[in-house]
Amino acid sequence: MKAVAIMFPSREVRVLDVPEPRLHSPTQVKVRTLEVGVCGTDQDILKGHHGAAPKGEDHLVLGHECLGEVMEVGAHVQGLKPGDLVVPRVRRPCPHAHCPACRHGHPDFCVTGDFTERGIKGAHGFCSEHFVEDAAYLHKADDSLRGVAVLTEPLTIAEKGLRELSHIQSRLPWKVSPGKALVLGAGPVAQLGVMALMRAGFDVTVYSRSPKPNEKAAASEAVGAPYISSKEVTVEALKKQLGGVAIIYEATGASQVAFDSLQVLDENGVLIFTGVPGREEPLELQGDQVMGQLVLGNRVMFGTVNAADSDFREALEDLARFRAKWPGKVEALITQRHPPSEFAKVVEAKGGIKHVISFQEHAR
Ligand code: BGC
Repeated sequence: MKAVAIMFPSREVRVLDVPEPRLHSPTQVKVRTLEVGVCGTDQDILKGHHGAAPKGEDHLVLGHECLGEVMEVGAHVQGLKPGDLVVPRVRRPCPHAHCPACRHGHPDFCVTGDFTERGIKGAHGFCSEHFVEDAAYLHKADDSLRGVAVLTEPLTIAEKGLRELSHIQSRLPWKVSPGKALVLGAGPVAQLGVMALMRAGFDVTVYSRSPKPNEKAAASEAVGAPYISSKEVTVEALKKQLGGVAIIYEATGASQVAFDSLQVLDENGVLIFTGVPGREEPLELQGDQVMGQLVLGNRVMFGTVNAADSDFREALEDLARFRAKWPGKVEALITQRHPPSEFAKVVEAKGGIKHVISFQEHAR
């Protein structure tokens, strides 16, 4: 069968002919890949900043945002049957007995760094015609989500962020009602974050680089989140305009704008970092000012990576809620579907929001 892989050490992307995967245990499931989303992490892997092949191999099958359809189930698999739609999780636990996170079913908090991530680090991904996975790592998606469930994995970033946010805000001895939120960036993680924050009751504004009109601004405004360009409105002016926000959800990977935005964060506010910075220029950071803002205003900054079982379940439920609340708007985040052979080209694609590799339309 065909698989899209990156070769090591050349980092060249190729469509390979690889052996058909088979079930090796009664708890495994064989899945037909329908769609694979392409994201900034794939770009980092291609550029050589991230990514590793499975031990002893010279290539890594790419793809970690996936929607598939069950082909075959092992004898001990319950709750899944051929034809069901499934979304796989990305990270698998490290082998160490002393890792409390992995031993408690939370490899997203792994402390050893020896986890694997399918399509990213040490384990083949899902950008192949078929793959085999243990049922414990698969989430059943309702058939009505066929057109959008490839967005589940990027939405889990927001789900985990919001879950942690609620733990942090439980520190406040009163019931905190959702207030204003600022989303930094307007790519897929940001747009799905906008929807998740709005669903949770926040009054959301998007702050991103490109001036309007542009398709990302149109997407956030279509669900009711005003868009402001950082090229037109400085952070100081933004503070005057918004009058402070309770939450900042960073989804740009741009560290300067993230730290600058602290000026907009209210007392007891929380800044959630989700982006991995790719910048090479030095960051200008007023350390005393940042520390003062945190201490004197009880502000919290935290980073979040990967997601847990419950975040995938919540994301699948949220996708259904988003579709009901904003008909057609979740679908509209998917800019274009491409054949598997175009993976490398798609990674470099400028414009649009989410680009998806489709095995359904192009590979059969
Ligand atoms: C994925 C995460 C992963 C992270 C780091 C992100 O693109 O969504 O699942 O943990 O990259 O590899």
